Amino acid sequence: MENETKPQDFIREIIAKDVAKTKKKNGGRVITRFPPEPNGYLHIGHAKSICLNFGIAEEQKSVCHLRFDDTNPSKEEIEFADSIQEDVRWLGFDWGEHLYYASDYFDRLYDYALELIRKGKAYVCDLSPEEMREYRGTLTEPGRDSPFRDRTVEENIGQFERMTVGEFEDGERVLRAKIDMTSGNINLRDPVIYRIQHKAHHRTGDDWCIYPMYDFTHGISDSIEGITHSLCTLEFEDHRPLYDWFLDQLDMDCHPQQIEFSRLNISHTVLSKRVLRKLVEDEHVSGWDDPRMPTIVGMRRRGYTPLAIRNFCESVGIAKKSDSVVALAQLEHFVRDDLNRVAARVMAVMRPLKVVITNYPEGQVEELEAINNPEDESAGTRKLPFSKELYIDREDFMENPPKKFFRLTPGGEVRLRYAYFLRCDDVVKDDSGEVVELHCSYDPETRGGQAPDGRKVKATIHWLSAQHARRAEVREYNTLFTKEDPNDVSEGADFTENLNAESLVVLPKVFVEPSLAGAKIGARFQFEREGYYCVDLESTPEALVFNCTVPLRDTWAKVKKTVRKVAKKKVSKKSI
Ligand code: ATP
Ligand code: MG
Repeated sequence: MENETKPQDFIREIIAKDVAKTKKKNGGRVITRFPPEPNGYLHIGHAKSICLNFGIAEEQKSVCHLRFDDTNPSKEEIEFADSIQEDVRWLGFDWGEHLYYASDYFDRLYDYALELIRKGKAYVCDLSPEEMREYRGTLTEPGRDSPFRDRTVEENIGQFERMTVGEFEDGERVLRAKIDMTSGNINLRDPVIYRIQHKAHHRTGDDWCIYPMYDFTHGISDSIEGITHSLCTLEFEDHRPLYDWFLDQLDMDCHPQQIEFSRLNISHTVLSKRVLRKLVEDEHVSGWDDPRMPTIVGMRRRGYTPLAIRNFCESVGIAKKSDSVVALAQLEHFVRDDLNRVAARVMAVMRPLKVVITNYPEGQVEELEAINNPEDESAGTRKLPFSKELYIDREDFMENPPKKFFRLTPGGEVRLRYAYFLRCDDVVKDDSGEVVELHCSYDPETRGGQAPDGRKVKATIHWLSAQHARRAEVREYNTLFTKEDPNDVSEGADFTENLNAESLVVLPKVFVEPSLAGAKIGARFQFEREGYYCVDLESTPEALVFNCTVPLRDTWAKVKKTVRKVAKKKVSKKSI
């Protein structure tokens, strides 16, 4: 096997067998493709397919084609085709020179349609869409033959030509494959292969007013490109006999093998371009790149890394049957895992509370050394200014603390990260009784965080020098949907019913280290004790904006640990 470190799955097993010396199917070649329809932005579900197709090509030292399945002129836009290329590249994959468009094959597809007509395997049908539906039958009842099914080859060619030159209106004629109206598989009941659409196409302009259907186009495009393994999601399983039928009827050298795998679904998330498009159009989100969106552009803006997404896709695996739902926490686990290695640590105070150090010299500023990334020594250190007035987080102080509260309390002492011990002497309140300021004293002997007399504190909190801190807006995110399954709605309602009103929480007055003023858009940081954050694309040096990429707490790793523990217990019990 080529690559033993990659986890194996049933598709990689099939391919490994195909290229094995004894079989050498397709001369040992493996060519895959990722075939998006350019009618929306890519989402994390597509990432699974991208990782699979490009991943296999890499392992086989071969190529994966990027092909736009652009057969529907009414829904497609150049904006989408451009964004798809950018997203695939951002994920870390490369199609080299193998960028294709199904629309480039329109001439050849037309010839193949004529070939089917000549072979008596396709006919022009005048039934209206409603009549066609009626003739098609149901899952339990066979369909009936169209009255136009027995047209002669000449008549069909004539009719098809008239369709092509624009003699008919949309829907007046279609070209259908002549297969079997009684087939148990409805896809084989004389499916439409060409329809009339008087609409300009984003690449072929007004050249055509008839367009080939997806099922007809897809397999032929695969074959033209010499694809060996055509990997798609499970909903195409029932289309496979049709995929094979077209290639069997036509005189084509290459007959790719279609293999289906399970779709990715994620809890609290919708992975359907149609729904995502609606979220954008109805302004439930700010755009395709809203950081709450499960799109690649949204995740990129949110601060997710390509490696995190690829590791996640790998962890999900490729299953043969049934689409399962993966916990969102699993994706977040891989984001955290990667950011833990690469993100610089900084301090940010989310809910600022002013601290005045009464015994600290007025006007003095010290520079204290702070570590940039304990996971990566090469990241070095930086200087943090320390002065008489600080900000700490409101949540790190309690006037009347419960028993296990170890942070700052009246009379209590904590360690300021990289600085000194700090004791709270006085609490200043406003007229409404709200705490507005703390008067504290520091112990100059504790610089660096250790007391020479050996006394201990139970907590270390983060802080910022008030005069040096920079103000920022921070956007925290919750899931876009309140329910694990966003499609679980009451009768007559749609997914909007489950939209989470608190999916975006803006903290308008956060303070961050002064060094962050120069941070570039997209730069990622760990705000100590809070989580991972990145500079939003709306951020400017004058008005900083950060997105919360993911909080620090890893719920999935915990779940995994308990599952592992339980599993271990079971094993040990058995072995006794
Ligand atoms: P959607 O259902 O979101 O509109 P689609 O299947 O119509 O997606 P395409 O652009 O046609 O989107 O898909 C390109 C490729 O991505 C297809 O091979 C499809 O099977 C795959 N794909 C789409 N969604 C998922 C998913 N959730 N999990 C895995 N693969 C997916
Ligand atoms: Mg589709």
